[in-house]
Amino acid sequence: MSAAIISGKKISKKIKQELAQKVSVLKTKHELVPGLAVVLVGENPASQVYVRNKEKACALVGVYSEKHELPADVSQNVLLKLIDQLNNNDKIHGILVQLPLPPQIDSQLVLEAIAPDKDVDGFHPYNIGKLLVGEEKFVPCTPQGIITLLKESGVDLVGKKAVIIGRSNIVGKPVALLLLQEHATVTICHSRTKPLAEETSRADILVAAIGKPKFVTADMVKAGAVVIDVGVNRLPDGKLCGDVDFDAVVDKVSAITPVPGGVGPMTIAMLLSNTVKSAKLHKGIV
Ligand code: NAP
Repeated sequence: MSAAIISGKKISKKIKQELAQKVSVLKTKHELVPGLAVVLVGENPASQVYVRNKEKACALVGVYSEKHELPADVSQNVLLKLIDQLNNNDKIHGILVQLPLPPQIDSQLVLEAIAPDKDVDGFHPYNIGKLLVGEEKFVPCTPQGIITLLKESGVDLVGKKAVIIGRSNIVGKPVALLLLQEHATVTICHSRTKPLAEETSRADILVAAIGKPKFVTADMVKAGAVVIDVGVNRLPDGKLCGDVDFDAVVDKVSAITPVPGGVGPMTIAMLLSNTVKSAKLHKGIV
């Protein structure tokens, strides 16, 4: 079987082009420039790359962005004060605090300090709750990107068995809620699931969000399944790879996302989309 490679690079490019057009209309018709503030604490190299990519993407679609860099030993109070200022800054419609935060900082407290109507990452308990009851406003970017990838690729989700490996608040749990909303029958697996391969090999749609390189092998996957690989792992040779053993699985499945170039670019596109949505909501534009 020759699998379709689901290109997040291509799909996200199209989404960004559409967003650029929307932003241009907002500027000319409504004098509205969507604004995103990104807060970076410390010098984690991966976080620095993610933040740089987000800034570049903002510039590409015409979203105003500002970066706030704080030292790794910053106090929680200083960080909370900055968030409070951004909550009250009319130029800013979205606030993103790049995770992970250093150990002296209570990440959950910080995420809960972001005004829910500027929570473009969708991590605030208010927005998670809204998602749970099916009244979502800001959906976490990576899960939203996964659903968009599936829909744009024409994958029918209704009545399908979807299995997710991983139960994190930022990927596993929200993607499960979204798949449920799309009428898939959803199973969430984690490190205590036994036997894992029995669950995963039943999946019509398999989402791997584990953080372990090439963890999903061919024997864990049903023939003809659609596989979404969320993992981003750095190998000793410096190359990136996903949670799925791509080369071993690709000939068995009907479609698969590559790493890099799969889910990653979608996450940024959804962040921009949430920021534009927030700007419109703040201005009362429907
Ligand atoms: P996380 O918070 O560390 O969660 C990992 C999940 O995997 C946990 O629920 C864990 O189970 C489960 N797990 C670990 N070992 C397992 C095993 N042997 N068998 C079954 N389940 C196992 O990670 P995350 O934040 O969700 O991220 C997952 C991956 O996605 C990472 O590689 C991350 O870099 C990547 N990611 C990519 C993007 C993107 O934009 N492309 C965005 C976010 C994350 P327990 O709960 O039982 O510990």
